[in-house]
This record gives sequence, structure tokens and C-alpha cells, in this order.
Amino acid sequence: MSAVSPLIVKDLYKKFGDLEVLKGVSLEALKGDVITLIGSSGSGKSTFLRCINLLETPTSGEIIVHGEPVAFRQDRHGNEQPADRRQVERMRSKLAMVFQGFNLWSHMTVLENVIEAPIHVLKVPKKEAIERAEAYLDRVGILDRKHYYPAQLSGGQQQRAAIARALAVEPEVMLFDEPTSALDPELVGEVLRVMRNLAEEGRTMILVTHEMAFCRDVSTKVLFLHQGMIEEQGTPEEVFDNTQSERMKQFLAPTY
Ligand code: ADP
Ligand code: MG
Repeated sequence: MSAVSPLIVKDLYKKFGDLEVLKGVSLEALKGDVITLIGSSGSGKSTFLRCINLLETPTSGEIIVHGEPVAFRQDRHGNEQPADRRQVERMRSKLAMVFQGFNLWSHMTVLENVIEAPIHVLKVPKKEAIERAEAYLDRVGILDRKHYYPAQLSGGQQQRAAIARALAVEPEVMLFDEPTSALDPELVGEVLRVMRNLAEEGRTMILVTHEMAFCRDVSTKVLFLHQGMIEEQGTPEEVFDNTQSERMKQFLAPTY
């Protein structure tokens, strides 16, 4: 039996008006892959993740989640529209995203944040959703904060709560968009530790990060994005120790 890839993206394009931000980006995530996107600010990294998650609708290309093609179409004004809302909700639970800015619901406790999607999207019974949520909160080390509101937590704790919330939908692939960029430096380590554990457990992850040492350590593949195209890709050893593209050399120059 051959394994179905959790995520295949083929030739993805995204335009905002006349601005072409993604110009044919493809990738395939095998189970357990940790694919890291690196590149300068404005190269299209967030747009790529947002397209995969259907927070933006791609202009063209294909997204196939565990063998299921995601449909999108254009409305009569030429604006791209995802095919159907139910599919979008279902896809989002298969591709849970963790954002730079935590994005927890501020009027809900940590526990309420984590059980929200399992109960309302996945129709998990409340008692079971709570049990699962507690297990995930324990895993990220903040079970003792489950009745706190986001504003009562440190940035690192909020981000770990956001990771627990993403885990709670038992996603096929986890997407992380610069999850440590908004944190004070002393809080970065606790979030990277949680992410490293997830990677070691064999979770399939696509992440955007500026933490180059971390990227090198945990990634199975690294993609360097430049002006909406993959300029260089390979294993961490290939792209960091034997960098081919001049642009990637320039990008790495300040850290190495
Ligand atoms: P990165 O995450 O690599 O910094 P982004 O994907 O955020 O890059 O942005 C890539 C380009 O797309 C930038 O030029 C940005 O201004 C533009 N862009 C992103 N989102 C939008 C939007 N909603 N409308 C118009 N332009 C956008
Ligand atoms: Mg970004």
C-alpha cells in the first residue's frame, strides 16, 4: 500500500490585482516531512501558507489534501471564491495554522479556545473534546492555565495555547507562519521546543521561520522563496552547506 501524501501543491499562482505574488510554487509533503520556507520579507511566504489554508484563494494551481483536490472558482466579478464553505471548514481542520500573532479568541478561556473547532466543526461530543484538549494543553505545558484568558498569559504561553488549539483538530498538516517572531527573545525557546517535539513525533509540518538554526535542525526540506518562486530547495545540508543561488547566499550572509 503506497502512502497518500498529506499535501500536494502544484503550480500555485496568486495575484492581488496586477501584483503577481506567487508564480508557480509546487511542493509535496510526505508524512512526517517538516518543510521550511525561508526568504526575504515580501517574497510570498505568508501568501503561500494562506493560499494552502484558503484564507486567500489561489488564482490558479492545484491543492490536494490527502488525495482530495480542493476546488476554487471565480465569481462573476472575477474574484476567486472557494467552491464551498463546508469544504473550506473541513480543509482548515486538516491544515491547522498557527500565526505570528497567536490569534486566540480573547473572550474565551484557553480551554474554550481549544475545544471550539472540535465541537463546532468536527462535532466531537463536548466531554470528549475537553478530555482531548486537556491532553494537548498538557503536552504543550500549559494545562495549569486552562481557565485563563489569553490576556492573562505570556506571549509564549499564548502561542503554546494556539499550538494546542491547532493540534486539537488532529490536522493532516500543521502550518506555522513565523510563530516566534512576535515573542520576546526569552520566550522563543519554549515555543521552538514544543515545535521540535511535534517534528520528532513525525507530524507533517510546513513552517515559515527566521530561526535558521532551528530550521536547519528540524527540517526535512528547505525551500528558499524569492519573488514568488522557489529559487532553491533541498535538504538543510544541501541548501545551507552547498548553497547554489547567489540570492540565497545573500539572504544567508547576515546569519552565517
Ligand atoms: P512574506 O510573508 O514573504 O513577507 P507576503 O506573502 O506577506 O510575504 O507578501 C508578498 C507580497 O504580497 C508583498 O508584496 C505584499 O505586499 C503582497 N500582499 C500580501 N497580501 C496582500 C493583499 N491582501 N493584498 C495585496 N497585496 C498583498
Ligand atoms: Mg509573512
